[in-house]
Amino acid sequence: MTMDGPTAPIDGSIANDTNDAPSHAGDSLDAMLKDRFGHESFRPMQRDIIADAIAGRDAFVLMPTGGGKSLCYQMPPLVRTGAAVVISPLISLMQDQHSALEANGIHSTVLNSAIDPDEIRSREAAALRGAYDLIYMSPERLFAGAGRWLVDQLDIAMFAIDEAHCISEWGHDFRPDYRMLSQLREHFGGKFQSVPIMALTATATLRVADDIVEQLRLRDPTVYRGDFERKNLFYQVRPKQDTFGQIMDYLREHPGAEGIIYCLSRKRTEQITAKLQDQGVAALPYHAGLTSDVRKRNQHDFVYGGTTVMVATIAFGMGIDKPDVRFVMHADLPRHLEGYYQESGRAGRDGLHADCILFFSAGDRGRIEFFIRQKETEAEQQRAFRQLDQVFDYAYTTGCRCVPLLKYFGQAHAGDCGHCDNCTKPPVMVDVTDEARKFLSAVARTEQRFGIGHVIDVLRGSDTEKVSRWGHHDLSVFNIGADVPAAQWRRIAQTLIALGQLAQSADEYPTVHLTASSRPVLHGEEKVIMAQPRAQPRRGGASRRASAGASSNQTVGAGNLELSVDDQLFEKLRGLRRQLASEKAVPPYVVFSDASLKHMAQTKPVDLDQFIAVKGVGTHKLRQYGPVFTQLIAEHGAGLVGGA
Ligand code: ADP
Ligand code: ZN
Repeated sequence: MTMDGPTAPIDGSIANDTNDAPSHAGDSLDAMLKDRFGHESFRPMQRDIIADAIAGRDAFVLMPTGGGKSLCYQMPPLVRTGAAVVISPLISLMQDQHSALEANGIHSTVLNSAIDPDEIRSREAAALRGAYDLIYMSPERLFAGAGRWLVDQLDIAMFAIDEAHCISEWGHDFRPDYRMLSQLREHFGGKFQSVPIMALTATATLRVADDIVEQLRLRDPTVYRGDFERKNLFYQVRPKQDTFGQIMDYLREHPGAEGIIYCLSRKRTEQITAKLQDQGVAALPYHAGLTSDVRKRNQHDFVYGGTTVMVATIAFGMGIDKPDVRFVMHADLPRHLEGYYQESGRAGRDGLHADCILFFSAGDRGRIEFFIRQKETEAEQQRAFRQLDQVFDYAYTTGCRCVPLLKYFGQAHAGDCGHCDNCTKPPVMVDVTDEARKFLSAVARTEQRFGIGHVIDVLRGSDTEKVSRWGHHDLSVFNIGADVPAAQWRRIAQTLIALGQLAQSADEYPTVHLTASSRPVLHGEEKVIMAQPRAQPRRGGASRRASAGASSNQTVGAGNLELSVDDQLFEKLRGLRRQLASEKAVPPYVVFSDASLKHMAQTKPVDLDQFIAVKGVGTHKLRQYGPVFTQLIAEHGAGLVGGA
């Protein structure tokens, strides 16, 4: 199998190719999509993948987070006889998917070790009666006595292996219990010759992808490789200055927005959480230093809507399907771009606009280098350094951010994505050669023994205790740069570090020193060009008012600019959703996604005929929720008329 190049679609040929495939693979799949799942149209590749499974063919699905992988295995069992057996590594994910399916009136069940044996027995009995279209299982259950016995007895439509990269030792998330799945075809091979296996993942290098196909013994699978560009995510890099102030500004400008802030250390996670809580933000921490009970509780709170901001180390996020994460911020530099892509990619699964903000300081490099030096082998260190360089390429590029980001996944991007800071507002480039020379001279004159802050004090002629202690008043570089603000000096220093023309030690109090590349700059042989940061939004009332105006123009999906969302109604709808979700003890998105509520707040359906046209409303949700939501919308309309 090869993984590069687009995969040939298999359109239209299904019905002719096999006896097994129903002849209605076209129109009726569309009708079923709206009726059972409430969606208007398939996302790219979904239809072909589903048709493959219905036709009994194996498939390997490599699609980014939010691409809509779940539907690919949730739909075929509604057409094929028998249930889909879905293998998933995380209990919380199984449960959330189960709730979401129930909300659409699709019957499924979950079998794992967290469920008590009596309950398991009754679910197994129901499964044998054919009560479920989907059965979620942990991998070890599939081969243990009772689980295996069950699968032997069942009518099975297909096997779906979610997070399939967990099977590969070459991957970053190998799980030994997934390894057992390599026996899947052999074990059940006799009875299930015609049962297709679908492997799905959002992350796999070529080597891991090959390994997955091999381990699962997939038979001539169609390989579906999605477009990894996430068009609804807006990528920005901001200077790491007053990071907390910038976070608070963002939260004020996006009231109610839920999101994740990633930090490099537990300590920083705790600090930011405490400061947010002080400001009245419902924030909770998540890191390896908390007990597993606390972690579970905090995660649950976030998914079920009690907490709006999760401040986490990278350990967080794997186990959640939450589609309405509106922002992911990185308060510290990530160690590699793959991680950055996956973490930031937890935003906006629902396809609505979401922000991915990286707070960047070249000064973070020292700390990460310190971690890298702890690695055992030279080869590992080299690799980690290369990966770190790629993060710097991403942060420092003045061109489209999608280019370095997607290059990492072997996807060439032509640039000009239209959804990153550099594309929407190209940076202004300034020549800072003179300042750079002054800075490097000051480093040399102070004997390369001080940090950036002190060098700036010398340049700006500041009268600090340290300056007088070291007699730096007397240097020729003293006070030659008072006209340049300290923040600008800092940016110049960081640019020099990023360009390798200045080095910074990895100590607690990092010092700066010259490198071989400093010379050409000092001697005026090389220019230093720097991107001037964009003006940050102003704080306080003015910006808040401006943004309230902007948010009433929010639109649903990209490129759909005609209708504006009624913000007040949207908030009321959210309130109703929250209430219904807590009555049923399910996450709010299970009732309706943000996308559905926005669409309602735009189109204002007041009867069931209008309500069925709302995104995400299928027959089941129409019956269950149509009456209460249309009533609220009608009352809102009447209130406006009455009040006007
Ligand atoms: P993945 O597993 O690939 O990360 P999900 O299966 O969780 O993605 O789907 C992400 C979101 O997209 C979910 O909220 C889902 O309901 C929604 N979705 C999936 N398919 C469609 C579709 N065809 N139209 C609209 N929304 C969809
Ligand atoms: Zn771009």
